[in-house]
Amino acid sequence: MKIGQRYTEVRKKIFTAIEKMDKPVSAQEIYDYIKQNYEEVDLASIYRNLELMNKSDAVNVILFGEGKKRYELKNMKGHHHHLFCEGCGDIKDIEMKEENLIKNVKNKEGFVIKKHNLEFFGLCPNCQ
Ligand SMILES: [Zn+2]
Ligand SMILES: [Zn+2]
Repeated sequence: MKIGQRYTEVRKKIFTAIEKMDKPVSAQEIYDYIKQNYEEVDLASIYRNLELMNKSDAVNVILFGEGKKRYELKNMKGHHHHLFCEGCGDIKDIEMKEENLIKNVKNKEGFVIKKHNLEFFGLCPNCQ
């Protein structure tokens, strides 16, 4: 198998892994998933592929201050935000209406917001 083909194969599996786990996942979790469901893979090639997928805008990188990146497929869901439980580490998607906030920034600051990330930290119902 040629190197290029090999990369494509790995990338397909990464897509499937993120899709199946259905939450923002770390490279390590993707690695574990592929190893369990497909075959032995190289963690370094997972990182490499994720970096390329990020550059080509296929994935979103989300940071929860854990010292690692988490990835989400860009086209799977609309724009949304996250609730991160500091108790159990559970992550939930949440949709918000932030159009007015963005409009206010434009009106008050004259600043045009092109993108934003908004993550919320706290405790889920089970951890309260
Ligand atoms: Zn929790
Ligand atoms: Zn999400």
